[in-house]
Amino acid sequence: MAPMKKECDYLVLGGGSGGLASARRASGMYGAKAIAVEVKRLGGTCVNVGCVPKKITWNAASISDTIKDAKSYGFDVKQGNPFDWKTFTDKRAAFVERLNGIYEKNLEKDKVEYFHGLATFVDPHTVKVTLDDNTEVDIKAKKILVAVGGHPNLPNMPGAELGITSDGFFELSQQPKKVAVIGAGYIAVEMAGMLHALGTETHLFIRQDKFLRTFDPMIQDKIVAEYERIGVHIHKNSSQSKVEDLGDGNKRLHYKDSDGEGTLDIDCLLWAIGRSPELEKLNLDITGVKLNDKGHIKTDDYQNTNIDHIYSLGDACDRGFELTPVAIAAGRRLSERLFGGIPDAKLSYENIPSVVFSHPTVGSVGMTEPAAREKYGDENVKVYNSSFSDMYFSMMEQDEKAPTSYKLVCSGKEEKVVGLHILGRGSDEVLQGFGVAIKMGATKKDFDRCVAIHPTAAEELVTMT
Ligand code: FAD
Ligand code: NDP
Repeated sequence: MAPMKKECDYLVLGGGSGGLASARRASGMYGAKAIAVEVKRLGGTCVNVGCVPKKITWNAASISDTIKDAKSYGFDVKQGNPFDWKTFTDKRAAFVERLNGIYEKNLEKDKVEYFHGLATFVDPHTVKVTLDDNTEVDIKAKKILVAVGGHPNLPNMPGAELGITSDGFFELSQQPKKVAVIGAGYIAVEMAGMLHALGTETHLFIRQDKFLRTFDPMIQDKIVAEYERIGVHIHKNSSQSKVEDLGDGNKRLHYKDSDGEGTLDIDCLLWAIGRSPELEKLNLDITGVKLNDKGHIKTDDYQNTNIDHIYSLGDACDRGFELTPVAIAAGRRLSERLFGGIPDAKLSYENIPSVVFSHPTVGSVGMTEPAAREKYGDENVKVYNSSFSDMYFSMMEQDEKAPTSYKLVCSGKEEKVVGLHILGRGSDEVLQGFGVAIKMGATKKDFDRCVAIHPTAAEELVTMT
């Protein structure tokens, strides 16, 4: 059968955070004829195998922590083995499915035409979409957005495929009894923290002696020490050579770490060693769009690629921030520029706040202390530090207290706050407001002029000396 033919102003490849936001703004707000294509589930990584199911799992892990803490407050709560993984994961999946439906309705509401299928470039202006029933649609578009996101990396090693990635984490039908998590970034730290809090014996393998190494050294030191205190087994300076199948879902990991060579028998192996753009099936070569040396699509400040009518954003592009709100904001700004008559609309990539849902949470916006010292010189940088015990832990023994540590990095005579790094209970919620202040160019004096809210942990940030 000859492919169906379609034409549009704006073709969006990828129905994830960035693609959907851009398509809806172009069509719903500015009346462009937009078409969106998604091969898996609407909402992309964030909704299906990222932020949303992760945060729900983190909530479960936090409740588990709270149940443990409750005893110190006089509650007679039995810990036992109360966590029902299946009930929890079924409910989580049902919630995500509801979101998929809502995303589809939102496309209808904003009059974005939607095709479920695999998109492949046929020529620089035309994309073939292979639908679920194997029929094809050829879509010719004036402008095309490549927002195809990324996928988790697997190492090249015998038996690597016996492990899962973060995608597989959300499909686990049983809670692992003993897990090896390999990696040192957001995903490894979040997943190791959640599994540990829920009662899984957790081994975290890192290549160096710290994790979250893109964060300020204060954060690295404190979070590694805290994971050690709560009982996550951290294998430092480690590497892996092979994985063996022991049957019944069990495997043996062969590794080296600071203590020498060893093996670890586990029922779950989780690779969290980074992600790469999802470009393999797109046939992007035919368009002439250039990639950087890591395989990300090269873009300028306006999300333009080197080809006039092709744009990219989110995890597929080279801007270096793989975060949902970044993809959404870039998508909206792009549509405002292309269809909304706002020629200078673009996302500012400066001072983007982000949070790691670790135990406790970690938040960061702006420059690390070393980066600020390098940029402004030691004599122009002043740093304020505060480490204390959150009042939440007042009812606990000394060895049960999680740390809270805050750092402000200021530059110049006026002490402009150029970096804020926080670790402790509630850091995820604390950071957003401080992100606004820093984006507005707040100085240390501005922080100090804000009256503290007592008793909170965040009040320390406006009373630092
Ligand atoms: P995606 O959301 O990945 O969407 C791309 C879509 O394109 C996918 O649905 C894919 O199926 C589709 N696609 C790919 N190729 C084709 C094709 N050829 N044809 C048709 N469709 C195609 N970010 C946060 O801000 N906060 C968090 O807490 C957070 N937690 C995370 C936890 C995990 C475990 C992971 C993996 C990521 C997390 N992220 C988080 C990152 C966030 O999910 C991504 O940055 C965001 O989803 C990127 O959006 P995107 O639009 O670029 O791509
Ligand atoms: P990251 O890029 O954050 O971290 C991966 C890290 O794993 C590397 O930095 C490296 O750290 C380590 N690593 C790489 N290769 C190996 C290896 N072979 N063996 C052991 N360790 C290795 O990737 P993630 O997959 O964790 O997450 C991808 C992105 O998704 C994040 O960068 C973030 O932008 C986003 N995300 C955001 C979240 C949030 O906002 N809360 C949550 C989850 C993901 P080192 O060099 O120290 O060894």
